[in-house]
Amino acid sequence: APALDVERIRRDFPLLSRTVHGKPLIYFDNANTGQKPASVIEAVDRHYREHNANVARAVHLLGEEATGAYEGARDAIARFINAPSRDEVILTSGTTQSINLVAYSYALPRLKPGDAIVTTVMEHHANIVPWQLVAERTGATVKAAPIDADGELILEAYLRLLTPEVKLACVAHVSNVLGTVNPVREIGRECRRRGIPLLVDGSQAAPHRPIDVQALGCDFYAITGHKMLAPTGTGALWARREHLMAMPPLFGGGEMIREVRFDGTVFADPPHRFEAGTPNIAGFAGVSAAIDYLQGIGFDRLKAYEQDLLAYATDALERVPGVRIFGRAKEKEPVISFLIEGVHANDMATLLDLQGVAVRSGHHCAHPLMQFFGVPATLRASLAFYNTKAEVDGFIEAIAKVRTLLL
Ligand code: PMP
Repeated sequence: APALDVERIRRDFPLLSRTVHGKPLIYFDNANTGQKPASVIEAVDRHYREHNANVARAVHLLGEEATGAYEGARDAIARFINAPSRDEVILTSGTTQSINLVAYSYALPRLKPGDAIVTTVMEHHANIVPWQLVAERTGATVKAAPIDADGELILEAYLRLLTPEVKLACVAHVSNVLGTVNPVREIGRECRRRGIPLLVDGSQAAPHRPIDVQALGCDFYAITGHKMLAPTGTGALWARREHLMAMPPLFGGGEMIREVRFDGTVFADPPHRFEAGTPNIAGFAGVSAAIDYLQGIGFDRLKAYEQDLLAYATDALERVPGVRIFGRAKEKEPVISFLIEGVHANDMATLLDLQGVAVRSGHHCAHPLMQFFGVPATLRASLAFYNTKAEVDGFIEAIAKVRTLLL
């Protein structure tokens, strides 16, 4: 495939041409949330202008169109992650809801005192706190696998934690702070050998690499729409049918029942059993458009471009005096956490913002990882396929300016 034409791509993203504080925007906060192409914005807009109605309850044409948009997103997501069946895809508001659904509907009824859930030190709080909440209610414990100084998961240590008391293993496909790509396929294989179900947090993987839940050999896979060009408030949980069939609903309400009687209500089959109430229909119209956009580019081209940009940015950042980079995994997505000696992360982020550069500073919802590195916060530059080497140059210049200002 021909190389990615980034100037053409940038024209598809209206927000990228705005200025902030009178400076052209350099948006390097993509791991936090991504910008949206016009096709996604228009899909949402078109939905409200032309097709708006509720799903699955009206016989009129608009109701059919709205249902088509919503169920069409389920089909698009199923293909996007290579789910064996569209009925194994639960539409949610994002990864947080996806993981909590597994915590309360799958884990909670199964856990007893002495059981354990395994996660890792590099997880986002969304893949830690729900497990703590259900562990607290059941007398189970949460165990965290360690990482090494490069920010790689210590696989042998993770596998050693997979003892018979473990009822669920969890891991991020890609770390939101370090960019580390975890060996999910190997973990999946080892979990299957031990009969332990595996949940993968795919929030940071889906924007960068093709996902194949069958090849990964996991049991649950969570994604969030807003990091992969789609609107906020959209996401999905894929789960094996055998698990879904055995899971009680988390929320009760409309859309999730077959028959309601006061002497016993019969729930709908998955996926609808887990989708009580009116969903984010317009948002899911945007999800289909986002997946179309990503597939129009193709992950082979996207990856080649992003990896080149990551190498360029890492190399440039390494030349900045006093820089400390966190996360040097052999395989990583374009996320760089760093600190500049003598400059507080927040001060740096604030002064970069005044120059038009948007990066995140803070703990990135990963307190245990910050504790591991012994820092309260880092700066994080997270890149996307619509970022450029010229922007990286601007970012490095902006850091140099802040250094001369403060040091
Ligand atoms: N897991 C990871 C690795 C993430 O990066 C994020 C978002 N920062 C989440 C989970 C939570 O996703 P959301 O806030 O969209 O539910």
